[in-house]
Amino acid sequence: MTAQLIDGQAIAQKVRDEVKVKVAERIAAGKSQPGLATVLVGERVDSATYVSMKQKACADLGMTSFHHPVPADISQEDLEKLIKELNADPKVNGILVQLPLPDHLDEERVLQLISIEKDVDGFSPINIGRLAQKGREPLFVPCTPYGCIYLLKEAGVQISGANAVVLGRSNIVGMPAALLLVKENATVTVCHSRTKNIADVVRQADILIAAIGRTEMVRGEWIKPGAAVIDVGMNSKPDATKKRGYRLVGDVNFDEAKEVAGFITPVPGGVGPMTIAMLMANTLRAAEIQDE
Ligand code: NAP
Repeated sequence: MTAQLIDGQAIAQKVRDEVKVKVAERIAAGKSQPGLATVLVGERVDSATYVSMKQKACADLGMTSFHHPVPADISQEDLEKLIKELNADPKVNGILVQLPLPDHLDEERVLQLISIEKDVDGFSPINIGRLAQKGREPLFVPCTPYGCIYLLKEAGVQISGANAVVLGRSNIVGMPAALLLVKENATVTVCHSRTKNIADVVRQADILIAAIGRTEMVRGEWIKPGAAVIDVGMNSKPDATKKRGYRLVGDVNFDEAKEVAGFITPVPGGVGPMTIAMLMANTLRAAEIQDE
């Protein structure tokens, strides 16, 4: 293996420890305990698992969480009413609506309703718009892309002036990751399902962020020697040796890529833990903004 492993688990723990200390300090100073409201629509098992991990992280770090499970057939009107109540509740500093929402709900309208000061997921059009504009700063950066950039910086990867390639252009990962890299002065190419000769584009990358949800699609021979590879993908691959019958793998063929790359994140244990750590950092920031 030539690549240096970027240990997302350890780096996420460091972020969490820092948040925990700051939360304790603000409470000792007589300020409010940061509070995160989680809204879970329906009973998707994966969504429920993510929400319970976020609630647990709040408890571990000394923050409060307010859980709002609502039925899958909730009306748009009732969901909007709940968001407005949470916007008005001073104990709630951050609001997280677990996505995806059922098809009958207008996700865009729901996200737009979240007060910008409580938009700890960073998905509101105002936060994304600010991310895209020169000289403006979002109040909150979306957690997964924020985690990707944080990992690159912690590993000491030079972003400014680097050729960066982002695979995927979703609202929650690919596009904000590309915008963040531009802000950090990288030269960025965004690839998607219509990109031609994707392997040739990836070969130009000093930094690769892969977020396409395609099992091990990126091969070792696509990687530029010495490149930094951040693998966001979380895909299940059949594995008879595992009790549950599968294991989690990324969008990058790790065994091949680690022989070529300079830095690489594992799956699991790379970007995944960072997402929740950055949500906790954003929730603390929300409380601080609302102190002002
Ligand atoms: P998504 O919304 O499905 O977007 C996938 C993107 O990849 C789209 O832009 C799509 O292009 C592109 N794409 C799909 N197939 C492609 C192909 N064969 N070649 C090139 N581009 C292709 O997915 P997402 O929500 O961004 O998530 C991406 C991956 O990250 C998933 O595995 C997800 O589980 C994982 N994820 C992990 C975390 C974490 O915390 N670790 C958080 C979020 C997501 P088009 O736009 O043209 O359709």
